[in-house]
Amino acid sequence: MNNFDSICRDIEKGIEPDDGALKLLLELEDEAELQRLFSIAYDIKTRYVGRKVYFRGLVELSNICTKNCLYCGIRKGNSKVNRFILTKQEIVEETLWALKSHYGSVVLQSGERSDPEFVDFIEDTLREITLRSEGKLGITLSLGEQSFETYRRWFEAGAQRYLLRIESSDPELYHKLHPADHSYEERVDCLRHLQKAGFQTGTGVMIGLPFQTTENLIHDLRFFQKLDIDMIGMGPYLVHPDTPLAEAMPEFEAKRKHQLKMGLKMIACARILLKDVNIASTTALQALDSNGRQQGLLAGANVMMPNITDTRYRAGYQLYAGKPGMNENSEESKISLEQSILAIGETIGYDEWGNPKHFYQRTGKE
Ligand code: SAH
Ligand code: SF4
Repeated sequence: MNNFDSICRDIEKGIEPDDGALKLLLELEDEAELQRLFSIAYDIKTRYVGRKVYFRGLVELSNICTKNCLYCGIRKGNSKVNRFILTKQEIVEETLWALKSHYGSVVLQSGERSDPEFVDFIEDTLREITLRSEGKLGITLSLGEQSFETYRRWFEAGAQRYLLRIESSDPELYHKLHPADHSYEERVDCLRHLQKAGFQTGTGVMIGLPFQTTENLIHDLRFFQKLDIDMIGMGPYLVHPDTPLAEAMPEFEAKRKHQLKMGLKMIACARILLKDVNIASTTALQALDSNGRQQGLLAGANVMMPNITDTRYRAGYQLYAGKPGMNENSEESKISLEQSILAIGETIGYDEWGNPKHFYQRTGKE
């Protein structure tokens, strides 16, 4: 029996892989071995969270951002971007479309702003969504770093979940990806504040970053465990040509398959380690392969975030180049996604919130 076989058997017996085993799994290249890894993760997913996908309708409400992350297409320093912000009315209408389409939840995402006008605007919008949907929609926010007080206010106004990726859990790599005034420690503090404010808390990383090693990725997986997070949203890094980090990976086009594979391996390892959390199969996987999100489900993910933003605004919200679904309206996306999910034998949790089971484990809440 080789090392890979014995690692697989241990996992099947319920023994958690150590860092050495994770390294071997994350560096697998052989197709048959990869399929075995994905199928082990899929079995764990089936056992802990079922073969059901939850949809969160994604509203990208503004590309105005006060930050300058070196990898991101809508960073403040990119003067080629035409900036927009949706009105409250537009955001509410889009979330009501999600409700009518039986999506249990929505995600509100945007560039980062923490000025009082924006904080009030989000609070007001959350109250309006809660009122108009009669509290029937689960609401996730992905609006970056904020004060504890802001998190508390947004929670009170009706949001239950928050996604804030750590981007890389290794402080050194984090600093290579961000300008000097972005702080790793503050980002970690934000995650703790989110938990304290009562949120179902999600984090994640980019996979296949310049300078990133397998050891960094193992550290990321251990970080998710250590913080006891409820949800994971992670995806492959994709180059945006108008960003400073682009020059660190000139060979990106030749690496697309590799990036996809790394993304899938991380999903599988996260499922094996964290078991009952929600894991998103992200759009970045689909940017690398039209079937990428289905492959994510088969590697252990159980959440999808179909874009429901009005197509007029989508071109303005390109975090990376080659973002898919730019002209496809929300209705078309829904139908093609549904078909591809049913085709792999899974069901869709329509009208369900699909809260992460781990949240109840962590907090003891009903
Ligand atoms: N401003 C908020 C939310 C929007 S950005 C925030 O930063 O948290 C959402 C995510 O997009 C980021 O967390 C980052 O991981 C991802 N992202 C940005 N640029 C990317 C790129 N070039 N490739 C892949 N993912 C990227
Ligand atoms: Fe702004 Fe988020 Fe992009 Fe950073 S990743 S530049 S905070 S939108």
